[in-house]
Amino acid sequence: MSSYLIRGVRVVGAEPTDLLVRDGLVVEAGRGLAAAGAEVVEADGLVALPGLVDLHTHLREPGREDAETVETGSRAAALGGYTAVCAMANTSPVADTAGVVEQVWRLGREAGLVDVQPIGAVTVGLAGERLAELGAMATSAANVRIFSDDGHCVADPRLMRRALEYVKAFDGVIAQHAEEPRLTQGAQMHEGEVSTRLGLTGWPAVAEEAIIARDVLLAEHVGSRLHICHVSTAGSVEVLRHAKERGVRVTAEVTPHHLLLTDERAATYDPVFKVNPPLRTADDVAALRAALADGIIDIVATDHAPHAVEDKECEWGYARPGMVGLETALSVVLDVLGERWDLIADRMSRTPARIAGLTEHGHDPAPGAPATFTLVDPKARRTVDPMDSASRSRNNPYAGLVLPGRIVATFLRGVPTVLDGKAVR
Ligand SMILES: [Zn+2]
Repeated sequence: MSSYLIRGVRVVGAEPTDLLVRDGLVVEAGRGLAAAGAEVVEADGLVALPGLVDLHTHLREPGREDAETVETGSRAAALGGYTAVCAMANTSPVADTAGVVEQVWRLGREAGLVDVQPIGAVTVGLAGERLAELGAMATSAANVRIFSDDGHCVADPRLMRRALEYVKAFDGVIAQHAEEPRLTQGAQMHEGEVSTRLGLTGWPAVAEEAIIARDVLLAEHVGSRLHICHVSTAGSVEVLRHAKERGVRVTAEVTPHHLLLTDERAATYDPVFKVNPPLRTADDVAALRAALADGIIDIVATDHAPHAVEDKECEWGYARPGMVGLETALSVVLDVLGERWDLIADRMSRTPARIAGLTEHGHDPAPGAPATFTLVDPKARRTVDPMDSASRSRNNPYAGLVLPGRIVATFLRGVPTVLDGKAVR
């Protein structure tokens, strides 16, 4: 295995140092290191972060390989600075058996660009009627620890309770897509001033907040772990704050797009801005940013949701919800939070790794740690071009925006997956 000397890098924003990488580990750190035979990476001005971990990625394989595959999504992830992604279960077939999660896990290993950790469905076929084989998925080669019907809410409180009880035995997590379906029938965008003006059916904030309130109480009652996907409203933040003060074992994520974009975008009727949960108001965006900084929201997760052209470039009402996000997430977070490196490392790597139980991830590059990190050029600015992407899909809501930060290199256990800003393979 080759060794690498990373020269002059600022580890999580600290003073410049050199890092020596050998046999998959960071073996030495300090100024003026020399290592015969090591490949030198000049990292003057670059910041090293622990490899990013995405708790919420849609890879679309099996079933919609025209939109994304495990391999193309893995490459997009590596280019975005990620070293691990959790693959959502709403594939076709649904990842609700040991066989399907093992297939996704194996495809991830074959691609070898990031660690692909499958998420198992909570209910058979995501139908919300009976529990899937959670135990069989947990003991499979894929070692599933997170279960989610994402795309759908586990709306039945009795099923939700049983799922929480079931995973408690192996310290699993239920990740809830919080949407009371009877409050969002026919919804097209956030319910508010803009939806009234445009005459589109609204998705009210309370449909999210009501499920989070119910589920934190269920999680408290059962004593189990709950994770809330893509929190999007100021009211949800208040429910989570209350739950955390009570000591409920709940964690929560926010997406880059909910940190940056508002429901005003729907006024363009460009379906690239259609997403579930929908883009909210500027007040919600401000509350989400504050909650991410103060830890009420634990992590950033992309909800990378690639869609084929025919599913997305059509009338607003027919377009599928969702947007891509792996290759732009860090730039959006840098834009929103500024160069608060320790906070970024925490929200995008250490904490998501901990929630997912990915023990090889989330470690700052230091002697003895796995050489699983990413190198960022914080001074670079780029204009987002949806065509310049490793993803198979082009539904990118940031097209034309100028965003800070560029991923220069990504290392997974000592092996570069990205060098000079390009995927190694
Ligand atoms: Zn969702």
